[in-house]
Amino acid sequence: PPRSTLSSSSAASDVYKRQTNKQVLILPGDGIGPEVCNEAEKVLNCVNSSHNLGISIEKSGVGGVAYEEFGKPLPVVTLKAAKVADGIFFGAVGGPEWDNLDYNLRPERALLGLRSELDLFANLRPAILSKYLCDSSSLKTEKVEDLDLLIIRELTGGIYFGEPRGTSDSGDSAFNTMIYSKKEIERIGRVAFETAQKRNKTLCSVDKANVLEVSVLWREVITDISKDYPDVELSHMLVDNAAMQLVKDPKQFDVVVTGNLFGDILSDIAAMLTGSIGMLPSASLNSKNKGMYEPVHGSAPDISGKGLANPIAAILSVAMMLKYSFDLNEVSSSIENSIQGVLSEGYRTYDLEGALEKKLSTSEMGNKIVEKLK
Ligand code: NAD
Repeated sequence: PPRSTLSSSSAASDVYKRQTNKQVLILPGDGIGPEVCNEAEKVLNCVNSSHNLGISIEKSGVGGVAYEEFGKPLPVVTLKAAKVADGIFFGAVGGPEWDNLDYNLRPERALLGLRSELDLFANLRPAILSKYLCDSSSLKTEKVEDLDLLIIRELTGGIYFGEPRGTSDSGDSAFNTMIYSKKEIERIGRVAFETAQKRNKTLCSVDKANVLEVSVLWREVITDISKDYPDVELSHMLVDNAAMQLVKDPKQFDVVVTGNLFGDILSDIAAMLTGSIGMLPSASLNSKNKGMYEPVHGSAPDISGKGLANPIAAILSVAMMLKYSFDLNEVSSSIENSIQGVLSEGYRTYDLEGALEKKLSTSEMGNKIVEKLK
């Protein structure tokens, strides 16, 4: 894949203290992945030089483009670079041209491979509705105004990875296994409690304990570790009710923790509350806070190459990387504030409601945000 090293680090000695010497690996992928990654990279380069962060950026191939070049969606060279990097920035993978490939060769396998190889077990998906975008939400303004919830999804276990899995010899049936160990539940639970401590100190754990043994264990372990976080108010909710409550009264939630399958579905529901999937960032962390950051959306082949992709989810993912992996809270906030500033002036991408004369293409939106940052 094309590899470039763009070090924006300054040689000046008076900036030495700010330099982080962090390495960021960008994996643009397919469809709109490269388009939104370009804008994220512009923003990263901007704060890198204005705050003298000394971050170096590398790029590598992943997904369908990597399959075309290497015959695999996650080439060895990419995995190696991901292991070395301090932060990984992922665009999106997939597309109709690869839909009929063998399961293990499909672009989406790269994501699962990176998550499990790097042990990125904690997926943080904030759903925050900008006050300037209430009109874009699928719910009434009073239901979603000031919405700020965080779904923490277990990402490396549960039914997506459980064995045995397969199709019977006759092909008449197929099966998957939903399995969690106490250890897996405890580590995601602790991330959730610690995150809740830094926010509103409430945590809702979502399961299906009325039907599934794995959920009974989930509830027991979460309840057990709650004793170590007496300042956090814990509640439990069944997943079907949680889906309903998310559309009925989403503001009742602050931090939600759940397993892989339920988290996948609930976080997409939460996505719609914020107006567009093009607004939602995510972080997947391991126990050392190394993270892979990515917009929640996919490669959107229907709009790819047309300048219609909203780059804000990707740019917010850069802000998350600076906050969660590099501890650069104020730089992260400056990016979030610039986005709010641009939205407050009425500028929108085509997925968001707004006046036609203020509609911006993918790169125009990236440029506007960079302008605000400067
Ligand atoms: P998608 O998220 O790509 O698109 C869903 C809808 O949202 C489309 O109408 C698309 O145009 C729109 N959309 C998505 N991102 C947008 C953005 N930034 N700005 C404006 N509109 C946006 O989901 P899909 O259509 O189900 O999947 C398309 C491909 O992406 C498939 O191959 C799928 O496997 C893959 N996928 C990849 C990831 C990932 O890489 N993390 C996630 C989901 C889907």
